[in-house]
Amino acid sequence: MASKRDYYEVLGVGRTASNGEIKGAYRKLALKYHPDRNPGDQEAEDNFKEAAEAYEVLRDDKKRSLYDQYGHQGLEGAGFSGFGGFDDIFSSFGDIFEEFFGFRSGRRSQSRASRGSDLRYDMTLSFLEAAFGKETEVTVEKMVICPECNGGACAPGTYPETCRQCGGSGQVARTQGFFTVRTACPQCRGNGQTIATPCEHCRGAGKVKDTKKVAVKIPGGVDNGSRLRLTGEGEPGVNGGPPGDLYVFISVSPHDFFERDGSHVICQISISFVQAALGDDIPVPTLEGERDLKIPKGIQPGEILRFRGEGIPSLRSRERGDQIIQVMVKTPTNLTKKQESLLKEFSKLESQKLSTKFKNIFKGDSARAAR
Ligand SMILES: [Zn+2]
Ligand SMILES: [Zn+2]
Repeated sequence: MASKRDYYEVLGVGRTASNGEIKGAYRKLALKYHPDRNPGDQEAEDNFKEAAEAYEVLRDDKKRSLYDQYGHQGLEGAGFSGFGGFDDIFSSFGDIFEEFFGFRSGRRSQSRASRGSDLRYDMTLSFLEAAFGKETEVTVEKMVICPECNGGACAPGTYPETCRQCGGSGQVARTQGFFTVRTACPQCRGNGQTIATPCEHCRGAGKVKDTKKVAVKIPGGVDNGSRLRLTGEGEPGVNGGPPGDLYVFISVSPHDFFERDGSHVICQISISFVQAALGDDIPVPTLEGERDLKIPKGIQPGEILRFRGEGIPSLRSRERGDQIIQVMVKTPTNLTKKQESLLKEFSKLESQKLSTKFKNIFKGDSARAAR
């Protein structure tokens, strides 16, 4: 490496320059040779590094007096060897750049990574599908990384350029009275880069619309309003951010025979008054086919019977609810003569039974009254 230039010469200040003068001189050079303003310019890069090194020494009273007395060798003896690269410079002067440029400047203020959007898919299930779950595929329309430009948004063989308006920072400063207001650069929308020749396939968006099939496993027990989240199946992230999620919103079609109350299923069956009186075994539909139900003798209209554990699995515990069977009793109509006369006969016997019962009641009353 060529021998080092004099630091005062580098900054263009006299040997007696004040700290303020040194800072001002460095500010000018840093703005002029800033790597974001001179991308790929080796000479500017060297000048930028040289100015940073000079400033690093001259702003520090100790280093400055060492340099004044012993020159470059004096500093080397004290362990100062300049900067390795831009990152050193920026980490060492970060706050100064903030002051100079009005923001914290890294090598280039990188566009912030952000998470992709969530997607919604509405799915209607039959009653039984909701009860026992289903494995299916849904087709969602979403934005995917453009395959032509790999999301870079540039036409093949071209590259983004540092935004001229903001010098790559993505921000512009305006002075309003005493205040400096910083806003996103209108030219590059805060990206710090502009694209001269956008990719034709995605028109410079870096993403294109695509349809994608997503496998969905619906657990048994979902209900109206249940929501399934498929992590990472939403829109892709921006600038390396994570993708969003896909939410499947469930609605369940009503069933002709079954109703649902949480994990219980409710149904109604009708029996004749004879079955109600004498009891019977009758087949009743369940979620998994028919099963015999024992009607006990003398069941009353509206009474409830159960098939334990024949309901719907709970999403949390996987335990199944019950099938609740409401028993309705039909009053017979269109009786034949024979049926009618039998019922009349039956009725006579009933009234005899009743009168005995009433007699007993009155007996009890008179007994009580007599006391
Ligand atoms: Zn810009
Ligand atoms: Zn593209």
